[in-house]
Amino acid sequence: MTQNKDRTPVAQSITTSCTKCKMELSHIVICHTMEGIVARVKCRTCGSEHKYHPEKKKTPRKTARVTGRTAASRKVPVPAALDFEQFSERLKNREPVPYSLSGSFKVDDVINHATHGMGLVTKVSRQRVWVLFFDGPRTLVCDWG
Ligand SMILES: [Zn+2]
Repeated sequence: MTQNKDRTPVAQSITTSCTKCKMELSHIVICHTMEGIVARVKCRTCGSEHKYHPEKKKTPRKTARVTGRTAASRKVPVPAALDFEQFSERLKNREPVPYSLSGSFKVDDVINHATHGMGLVTKVSRQRVWVLFFDGPRTLVCDWG
């Protein structure tokens, strides 16, 4: 019973968690509060004096929110399931448009990039084109003004 434990007389032993040892250890009661409840204790193991912490209900640890979410959600939703074969299939018999900064592209266009090779346009915005290349998705900047 914590009730009895909290009223352990001064100079008596009390088992409580030591702030230094971080363990449930035997302590000696040093003083009480006005209400006669143990206020300070001294650890028998490390000798440190500290406040008596009545057993609290274990507060569930706050689950660390994954803040990386924001960064991840900013990623372009590309058809990730598109594997190499499917990809080749989609690019097959398509006339690739040479990629250029001033070019205008539509979703599902096949482009030919000087560095990355053939790619499939998955998303288009005013100044960006999202392209799925063989080596992965990329965002290209275009200059449509
Ligand atoms: Zn201790």
